[in-house]
Amino acid sequence: MIETLKKYFGYDSFRPLQKEIIQVILDGKDALVLMPTGGGKSICYQLPALLSEGTAIIVSPLISLMKDQVESLCANGITACALNSSNDETENMILRRACVEGKMKLVYISPEKLITEKDYLLKEMHISLFAIDEAHCISQWGHDFRPEYAKMGFLHEIFPNIPIMALTATADKITREDIVHQLHLKEPKIFISSFDRPNLSLTVKRGYQQKEKNKTILDFISKHSGESGIIYCMSRNKTESVAQMLQKHGISTAVYHAGLSPAQRDGAQNDFINDHVQVVCATIAFGMGIDKSNVRWIIHYNLPKSIESFYQEIGRAGRDGLPSDTLLFYSLADIILLTQFAMESGQQGINIEKLHRMQQYAEADICRRRILLSYFGETTAKDCGNCDVCKNPPQRFDGTIIVQKALSAIARTEQRVNIHILIDILRGTMSQEVMKKGYHNLKTFGAGRDIPGHDWHDYLLQMLQLGYFEIAYNENNYLKITSSGKDVLFGRVTVQLAVIRREEITIKKKSKKRPQPFTAKAISGTPSAIEEDTSLFEALRQLRKQLAEQEMIPPYIVMSDKVLHQLSTFHPTTLEEFGNINGIGEYKKKKYGEKFVNTIKKFI
Ligand code: ADP
Ligand code: ZN
Repeated sequence: MIETLKKYFGYDSFRPLQKEIIQVILDGKDALVLMPTGGGKSICYQLPALLSEGTAIIVSPLISLMKDQVESLCANGITACALNSSNDETENMILRRACVEGKMKLVYISPEKLITEKDYLLKEMHISLFAIDEAHCISQWGHDFRPEYAKMGFLHEIFPNIPIMALTATADKITREDIVHQLHLKEPKIFISSFDRPNLSLTVKRGYQQKEKNKTILDFISKHSGESGIIYCMSRNKTESVAQMLQKHGISTAVYHAGLSPAQRDGAQNDFINDHVQVVCATIAFGMGIDKSNVRWIIHYNLPKSIESFYQEIGRAGRDGLPSDTLLFYSLADIILLTQFAMESGQQGINIEKLHRMQQYAEADICRRRILLSYFGETTAKDCGNCDVCKNPPQRFDGTIIVQKALSAIARTEQRVNIHILIDILRGTMSQEVMKKGYHNLKTFGAGRDIPGHDWHDYLLQMLQLGYFEIAYNENNYLKITSSGKDVLFGRVTVQLAVIRREEITIKKKSKKRPQPFTAKAISGTPSAIEEDTSLFEALRQLRKQLAEQEMIPPYIVMSDKVLHQLSTFHPTTLEEFGNINGIGEYKKKKYGEKFVNTIKKFI
């Protein structure tokens, strides 16, 4: 097993559970594998495919995912192909023949094709195993239900002795049971790996308004110069305006949302995958069909509607295991809008609850990763050290007077103001609405002038989260004081608020250097003795891009970021040394070794 892993994939060891999973399939038994995105599911069926006689059949729901997998396998010298509706007749015939003749080690197939071929092609082939990727598509409970997936129960009837492996990154219990049941898995071994993604840093910024968000984003991207990332926005308009803002600052950006034509969307996706643009501004519609391993950061311009969505979206960063950053903006406007969506949805109760859990995450004053993991039913004994709360624990102060000012202003308007007017009143701003209603005559008018508007946004968010007032979504979003709010207002209790931190942001010019060179030990926090050469990294990245363009495959398939970092740290100057790099198999060593070694030699 380990020899084959090294030979084809260039890896020295297995990730947790991989070996056990592979063994079960080699023993001819069924398995259900639950692993987070980037956990290394593919190896779990690719290795048994290589170690068994015959051809492995992999069922996959999306053509783009199949394409990506086939390209990666071919780049490692493994015979693989995809059968789906994108092939033309001639291509199909050639591929079918190759399958029957046993020339393919792995065949990716869409569920539709699997069903139509069950009595034809499948029966003519020598099949080693079935792998059902994205197996949650089988369940109506999941979010990506595919009716054809639910029809695959026939596999074990027709092929009772061929092992089936179901794999997914979505793991709730009902879905799990559904997969086992619908595929008629026989006493499957169930493997559940930790959903922790320690390489993703977690940061939340509360109460930022547009200008501040944009400044923060530009600063963030300047620290990720040349590195791919996705900005998720709640609306189509927002994706467009954020993209324009970035383009104005010289950052190559594509837009992706449901309002674009399929061709425009494909174009954006391809540009991103092939590193022709650095950033994609997208609605949630983006990301499902991509396996790009070197997405280095994710920004949420708006609060997502649930922790599931959030986790899935940030999961698209750092599949290669390298440190990657995530940043979430969280504002009152988002909460108001998302609550309205939830109220209008069919499942009001559930969706409101999900939103509350998301808010709790955003508002957390304990390790954020612990909150995420506990949401997915995992507990950990330690704080993560890689979230903003761990790195910079919030400090609190007695905010009773601030809260009383706000609540008293609400009370004096007879609880008939929304957040914006409330801030006008507190700040003493003579806005039209204030004058019209005569709020400038209130005793509290201007009582909070000493606090800037954006800080009021932050404090009011904290107050909402602490439960001192509620928003009446069915009554113009007016603010209503709760009974615990009254306790504060009448001086019966005091309040601790979090100190607001605002970093001074100076936007730097594009720098060629990576400010935080990756070292193998960076994740664990121990500095490595060997420093990475960042200009060599750039040169290798350029070489990779050139090769990718020649071969018309994405750069990360030619070589992962992880390999490039190792090359620019360890400087292999012989083919042999090059082959020892983790992630370089025999095929890539032969194919690319000389070119990379020559570039390294020139540099040192
Ligand atoms: P998933 O399908 O679970 O999202 P992948 O199978 O795409 O994850 O694997 C994620 C990344 O981890 C890939 O770049 C893959 O090559 C790498 N990987 C998988 N197994 C190992 C291993 N044993 N050692 C090093 N890297 C691995
Ligand atoms: Zn933490």
